[in-house]
Amino acid sequence: MQVKIMGSAAGGGFPQWNCACPNCRALRAGTFQGKARTQTQVAVSAEIRGEARTWFLLGASPDLRAQIEATPELHPRAHESGKGARHSPIAGAVLANADLDHVLGLLLLRELQPLRIYATKSTRRILTKDNSMFAMLQRVPDQVAWIEFMPGAQFPLLNPASEDSGLRCRSLPLGTHFPAFVSPPRRSQLAPLEASLGLIIESPTGSRLAYMPAVPGLDALMLKHLESCDAVLFDGTFWSADELIRIQGSGQSAYDIGHLPVSGPNGSLVRLAQLRHPRKIYLHINNTNPMLNQAGPEYAQVRDAGWEIAEDGWQFEL
Ligand SMILES: [Zn+2]
Repeated sequence: MQVKIMGSAAGGGFPQWNCACPNCRALRAGTFQGKARTQTQVAVSAEIRGEARTWFLLGASPDLRAQIEATPELHPRAHESGKGARHSPIAGAVLANADLDHVLGLLLLRELQPLRIYATKSTRRILTKDNSMFAMLQRVPDQVAWIEFMPGAQFPLLNPASEDSGLRCRSLPLGTHFPAFVSPPRRSQLAPLEASLGLIIESPTGSRLAYMPAVPGLDALMLKHLESCDAVLFDGTFWSADELIRIQGSGQSAYDIGHLPVSGPNGSLVRLAQLRHPRKIYLHINNTNPMLNQAGPEYAQVRDAGWEIAEDGWQFEL
């Protein structure tokens, strides 16, 4: 399986348009030892040798148009487009939640391209019943096909022609909070376990990738799932629980908004230290997180603990 990290920042990207935190200021001033990042976006493909021809997106970020242009493997190929000029190696997307940073990119894929979108019933209802703009994805019969999956179940990823890509996906319930824009009446009709998921993608050879950009807490079962993976893309949103409060002067803690911080006695560095098998990579990193600064002690601490910090454009094979 090929894995592409097209974007690695949390919502807002790095730098964020209305943020003057030390990281964003230094990056704009050209004095930051670290890279700018677009909002988290990952793509996977089953092909191992030769060209990977069919890709699935994990989520669809608001930066998706630029991320596709920056990824030659995702460009349309004229010789496969038949009589017309339309083609895409992107076969579909798997949605882990209904957060804007995770689904807005779907609206950028509205140019009548056949796609399969995998989502829980709750996420599909939030997007297609309450937000009329998503009707742009279903203007013609062969455009987007929504495929509902149950939390915990494993399902195959098929291309729009219903051919099996060889990839399998399992979703794990991680949190019960729906996005703030979901109305209370709608919320009362939804299944809380479908609110926020981690995804485990398995290749035809049995290699496994965990995609967990928003993890409110960890239990023994989750640790077991992670240990069974070959690579873990894990929630690196905040360094500390009070990061936003300290930098902005007000706000919520990391835990309040569903993210286990990296540092601290209950942080992911400590909690995941016992993982031996998988390659461990932080992604979904907020612009305020000091580990983005490669000259700082936090960066050194994370790297010394055996973790990597994802950058846009990374690609690896599992
Ligand atoms: Zn900032």
